[in-house]
Amino acid sequence: MTVFGEINMKYIIAFLFLQNTLAFTFNNTAGAAFGKDTVSVNVASHTCNNLGVTNDELLSLAGEAVYRFWNNVPTSRLTLTQGSIVSVATAFQTGLICQTGTNCTPTEALKVSSDILISCNTNATNFSNSVSVLGVTVPNNITGKTINGALVLVNDQSGNSFQNKSREEKIAILAHEIGHAIGLGHSKHNDQLMHFESIPTRKRLGWDDLNGISWLYPMEQPIGGCGTVDFNQTNHKTGGFLVTFLIGLLIIVGLKIKGSVLS
Ligand SMILES: [Zn+2]
Repeated sequence: MTVFGEINMKYIIAFLFLQNTLAFTFNNTAGAAFGKDTVSVNVASHTCNNLGVTNDELLSLAGEAVYRFWNNVPTSRLTLTQGSIVSVATAFQTGLICQTGTNCTPTEALKVSSDILISCNTNATNFSNSVSVLGVTVPNNITGKTINGALVLVNDQSGNSFQNKSREEKIAILAHEIGHAIGLGHSKHNDQLMHFESIPTRKRLGWDDLNGISWLYPMEQPIGGCGTVDFNQTNHKTGGFLVTFLIGLLIIVGLKIKGSVLS
């Protein structure tokens, strides 16, 4: 391999690294995340006029959304739980989530004191005056880099698109909005949950979603968990041979590659 070839290889490796690790974005400029490991998802108690689901059904859908999507990431410390139906001010049903402006300045009256609140909302401005915008989410109570509370508004305008979606798609839509609530922005890849478009067949997180939640909520190994278990030679004879064989193979391949780079 020539020096030029070696440089090209480095570019290819760097390109692959960037493509696979840095595509996710944040839903706030601070890259903020919830400070606690367990966050509950609650639903506002007021009646949703045009959503086609009751508050209890909405809470059930949200519960399935967190268990099916966000709670199955071994590299994330975050656990989301199905909360309860909570009574909130009327402003959550009719108010603006943000004050006008390019960057969202959260409306004080709609700040969520803790955890995640899902509320149906009929204010067209929140949804860019469109019935096709399914929901809008803002972590609207942030201190420094810590999210204290986040608000999910589901579009409850007459003729909204949410009401005609299948149960599976409603779950995926709520999972997407909850992704915003925990701090994630949109992924540019259309096969990811955090892509801005809703896709009916979405059943699980994609690699970019996994990277995003693992970055914001890294699983930390508990202190004292670093002990090494003795390798049992009797019970692992086949495995031991396989490991030794693979290591030997890697050394041989490594030496060959090294030799070609240097020549
Ligand atoms: Zn979105």
